[in-house]
Amino acid sequence: GNGTIKAEKTYQIGTDVTYPPFEFANKNNQYVGIDIDILKAIAKEENFKVNIKAVGFNAAVQSLQSGQLDGVMAGMAMTDERKVKFDFSDPYYKTGFVMAVAKNSKINSLDDLRGKRVALKTGTAAADYANSLKDKYGFTTVTFDDSDNMYNDVVNGNSVACFEDDPVMQYAIKTGTKLKIVTKPAQGGYYGFAVAKGKNQELLKKFNAGLKKIKANGEYQKIINRYLSTKT
Ligand code: GLN
Repeated sequence: GNGTIKAEKTYQIGTDVTYPPFEFANKNNQYVGIDIDILKAIAKEENFKVNIKAVGFNAAVQSLQSGQLDGVMAGMAMTDERKVKFDFSDPYYKTGFVMAVAKNSKINSLDDLRGKRVALKTGTAAADYANSLKDKYGFTTVTFDDSDNMYNDVVNGNSVACFEDDPVMQYAIKTGTKLKIVTKPAQGGYYGFAVAKGKNQELLKKFNAGLKKIKANGEYQKIINRYLSTKT
């Protein structure tokens, strides 16, 4: 180097409040999860700091767009619609949408939703997907700001189904949410780290460089294994 010490830059990163295994508070009330650990590992590799703000998914996306945040790391799918407003990193995790119903429910498919109420999470790609099916299958919707409240609406029988990302729904069920998945993952896509279009390109470059490094040195897989069993 040139002998000067460069202060590490701190970036403001928005995320969801509860979206396990990607972001959630552990028993010690520390914020953890695949997204959080990946972001921290990359920040360490690339010498920057992050201030993680758990504001909720929709709020994080809105704040990123209005310039109040530098980035969003929240299990955010890289959809074509979002690519107009945001620049995404290289993909870091695969996803797809599933429909989940109560454990004892007789609802088995989209065809069973006619005249029924479906719970969705505001601003999510899964909600966009469900809304695109609404007319064809004749269901109504109710929206929630976080996944837990959406699941509870189905568990309590207020709604007959919800739409969520496959890895998130599977993890929730594995950890006790009383729902079951009844459809195959649809419209597969990938999660990416997002910045506002044309903004924070330096951060995006650092993220991609760090992601390559943690994939090469095994840290990425270590993080995945920390939250998900490798056994199938
Ligand atoms: N993966 C979903 C999306 O991209 C939802 C993300 C979330 O709820 N944190 O819209």
